[in-house]
Amino acid sequence: MVPLAAKSHRVIMLSKLILGFFATVFTLVTHNALAQDFIESSERPGGIVIVDLGPTGSKLPVASWDSRPVAVIKKNERATAIIGIPLSVGAGEHNVKVTDSNGEQRSVPFNVDAHAYAEQRLTITNTRKVNPAPVDIVRINKENKRLKVVKSTRADQILASDFIWPVAGPVSSPFGLKRFFNDQPRRPHGGIDIAAPDGTPIMAAADGLVVEAGDYFFNGNSVFIEHGLGLQTFYAHMSRIDVAAGERVSQGQVIGTVGATGRVTGPHLHWSVGLNATWVDPLLIIGTDQPPALQP
Ligand SMILES: [Zn+2]
Repeated sequence: MVPLAAKSHRVIMLSKLILGFFATVFTLVTHNALAQDFIESSERPGGIVIVDLGPTGSKLPVASWDSRPVAVIKKNERATAIIGIPLSVGAGEHNVKVTDSNGEQRSVPFNVDAHAYAEQRLTITNTRKVNPAPVDIVRINKENKRLKVVKSTRADQILASDFIWPVAGPVSSPFGLKRFFNDQPRRPHGGIDIAAPDGTPIMAAADGLVVEAGDYFFNGNSVFIEHGLGLQTFYAHMSRIDVAAGERVSQGQVIGTVGATGRVTGPHLHWSVGLNATWVDPLLIIGTDQPPALQP
């Protein structure tokens, strides 16, 4: 029989080994600066803008925009900001605030072009999901506060090397549509809808850390995964959740199944990509507009 103390010592040693392994992997991934390689720049509301911040040493500058920290990576000895542009932002010149490693502050301009998104009109039979009851509003307000925290949770290192489609299926509703539910205007579509039958396994689009898994009024069963530097993916309307907050996931790992929970017209996966707590067009990190066949 092994004494308890020896057992816990072994567990600690194993944890250290695992942490050491992850630290090595993260460092390699970060130094390869893969982040920029799988992200496509698109200077429009709902797009991603890649801004050159100039030459840098090993200590990268810190950058923020619209009072939120933005991702900064090193590429070819230069610091590069990767900024998610909200759908609500107008066209024109904007400035990213930069604090260099010596403490000096400066601002770097970037442009956002105008873009017109199409309209979409949907009929929701559960009218309470369009005009919530007072008791629902209490719940929604609580959820919105929680979502703010979830969306601004960020790992200091890039955890992902590339992204895959979370399910195979046609895009039934693209990103950015101006939405009307039962003829009432609501927030624009912050992700893409992928049509797939109820119960279809959903895969993590990339390696990352689950920051939230739970049931939300509009989004139904939802999972948020942080992939580093504030790059997140969000999966909604699931029939089943197979992961919990705090869990590390690998690309392709099944995190749950497609469903029709929350505000929906039928089963599908709503999939969003977030950067600096802002929803951006997921196609900009996937690099193709059609999902590949599901891997066996
Ligand atoms: Zn959707």
